[in-house]
Amino acid sequence: MKIVAATGNPHKLKEIREILCGFEIVSEAEAGFFGEVEENGSTFLENALLKARAVSKATGLAALADDSGLCVEALGGAPGIYSARYSGGGDAANRALLLKNLQEKERRAYFCCAAALVYPNGKEIVAEGRTYGTIVHESRGEGGFGYDSLFLSDDLGVTFAEADEAAKNSVSHRGRALRALAEKL
Ligand code: IMP
Repeated sequence: MKIVAATGNPHKLKEIREILCGFEIVSEAEAGFFGEVEENGSTFLENALLKARAVSKATGLAALADDSGLCVEALGGAPGIYSARYSGGGDAANRALLLKNLQEKERRAYFCCAAALVYPNGKEIVAEGRTYGTIVHESRGEGGFGYDSLFLSDDLGVTFAEADEAAKNSVSHRGRALRALAEKL
């Protein structure tokens, strides 16, 4: 089965291909989709469904979308669904703002991912995954993207940016959500 990965993020596309290695995953560009989907839902799951529905409708193919983010308990779950746009700048500015907002605060956090697969006939399959850890005081490691270098994984004992890709995928929120979704297929 051919599935379009409804994401413009090359890091996510790579992770999706590695985790769902038994499926033919094509990028939005390969499927001829060049639009933008407004993520105006109020939960990770709503946003994943918005993206997957729009890309499936536009391409006529099954579409897989994920919506994910970092939730910090002492910040009431922020940045949450606003993780990508937290500072209004890029990844480095987001990390700097997180460190600033966490001074003197409890640093427990989790990444959350909702994954949605939408078929052209309207059938929808969804799954969620979480992974727990602690926000360190300064970036560690060169791999990954987003908040990876600040997230000390409970499972791995290193930050996601210090872990190799296979190790991250084996415990990550996205790995867990996508494997749960694949089991439902
Ligand atoms: P999305 O593309 O709307 O799902 O936004 C996800 C945002 O959450 C990213 O831009 C990152 O800031 C953050 N994020 C989600 N997953 C990860 C991850 O695996 N590592 C680091 N940051 C992540």
